[in-house]
Amino acid sequence: MSLPAAPSLAEARPLAKWLRVFSLVIAVAVVAMAAASQFKDREARFAKSEVDAGMLASSLSQHATDTFEIANVLLTTLAERLRTSPGRSLDDIYLLDTALETQLRSVMRIRSLIAFDRNGRQFVSSQPQIPDWFDLSGDAAFRFHEENFGDAIHIGSPVRSPSTNDWLVTVTRRWDDANGQFGGVVMATIRVDYFSGFYDNFSAAGEVGISLLRGDGVLLARYPVNEAVLGRNLIYPQDRERTVVNKVGIVRSLSPVDGLMRVYAFERIDEVPLVMYAGISERSILAGWLQDCVATVAGACVLAALLGFVGWRFAAQIDARQASERKWTDLALTDGLTGVRNRRAFDEALERESAAAGSNRRPLSMILVDVDHFKAFNDTYGHPAGDSCLKAIAGALDRALTRPGDCVARYGGEEFALLLTDTGPAGALVIAERVRQAVLMLGIAHKASRTLPLVSVSVGVATEASETDEAADAVRLLDRADRALYRAKTAGRNRVEMASPAATVRAEDAAAATAPGMA
Ligand code: GH3
Ligand code: MG
Ligand code: MG
Repeated sequence: MSLPAAPSLAEARPLAKWLRVFSLVIAVAVVAMAAASQFKDREARFAKSEVDAGMLASSLSQHATDTFEIANVLLTTLAERLRTSPGRSLDDIYLLDTALETQLRSVMRIRSLIAFDRNGRQFVSSQPQIPDWFDLSGDAAFRFHEENFGDAIHIGSPVRSPSTNDWLVTVTRRWDDANGQFGGVVMATIRVDYFSGFYDNFSAAGEVGISLLRGDGVLLARYPVNEAVLGRNLIYPQDRERTVVNKVGIVRSLSPVDGLMRVYAFERIDEVPLVMYAGISERSILAGWLQDCVATVAGACVLAALLGFVGWRFAAQIDARQASERKWTDLALTDGLTGVRNRRAFDEALERESAAAGSNRRPLSMILVDVDHFKAFNDTYGHPAGDSCLKAIAGALDRALTRPGDCVARYGGEEFALLLTDTGPAGALVIAERVRQAVLMLGIAHKASRTLPLVSVSVGVATEASETDEAADAVRLLDRADRALYRAKTAGRNRVEMASPAATVRAEDAAAATAPGMA
């Protein structure tokens, strides 16, 4: 059995392992932090876009409300005028036409004001030269006002002007004559271009999508302009629910018109009623972000790889240094000839194990082995043969020990020592006998031996059983094993002798001290 590695090295070994783990953790953390910061940046961009879209929706809905309120005021004024001045002479109508034309010169957002009689015939217009509709009697709005008493306005779906081909949004209301009877309908028209032209001012905010919808979802105006979808109902069912429950809100949706994903803010205006959508495209929100993200994360990966590489190299260096230290320590503790532990290693082990035996209150045993008549072996077979014989014996001793805590060492010359931890006298005696027999079983001829024609060993065994937690007495253990070995020699060799109990040793010592002449 070989000695366990020196404790200082055993403790140092995890250093390289922890360095590897640490550098790996740092490397992963660097990449994770970079990725997290990019993710946060992405979230911040979206959060800002929601605020921007919200402000845009809010100001544009105010603009739309103002526009329809102006139309309403003009229609109310016209209806009142028609009620109170029932004159229908050409002069009356000419005066009224001119008055409306003058009025609209200062209200640019309203394109025209028209009055229809109870049969749906146009009779007053702010632009009599380019009349849009002569007859409104077939129109749904006309029938609505005819059937519904009151001054509610009605917003029509966008239609093309028959005279100018412009897309128009019509706003109508009923007018009553002086007797309170249905007099007809008054109409204001607003060019769809007016809205989309206004929305164009906000295009710098980044691929904006702006939609002005009637309360029921019918598209009145849109930016970017797309005439194909004017008048369509563009509210998705899920959005309809949202706009019904909430007055304002944010939705992320794919524009059905241009296929762009946008962050939309909506605002519902109940008074008219209208719904305003203002959205900023995800593409413009994230412009430059992906490049930033790739650059930052790639940089972090390079840094992480560098950190990992340096950590790994450093750990490898520590490993190599520790391996070489272990090698040198091993060499310093190993006997050059036999490969078992040397005396220095044995002394260290004895010191360590006797302290451990004391603190654990476990017995500690020692076996000393001396080759019989080895001088004669050398003399007979030569020194090199003697060396080989010692090697073979060391191997046999090593094989005789089975427990990892036990150790065999060359104590000096042709003498070996075995240390058995946690082993009492009975166990030690068994091992000692096994050792003696193992050497005999090697069957190395020794014709010069006066004991046997084979190489044999004499064995001395001693045990220190710790009763207190004091360290086992290493010197006394060695001394008693040595005395037992001496007894084995004098008793005829090739045998095992058990040391006398410690008390007997002390008595023998006392007797020796008082008997002069004894060696
Ligand atoms: P005993 O039975 O009383 O032990 O007799 P012995 O001859 O073995 O004892 P002694 O102490 O007189 O002689 C020991 C011999 O062991 C002397 C020496 O030549 C030999 N020896 C010691 N170390 C080595 C070694 O490394 N190689 C060889 N070949 N012989 C060694
Ligand atoms: Mg000797
Ligand atoms: Mg000897």
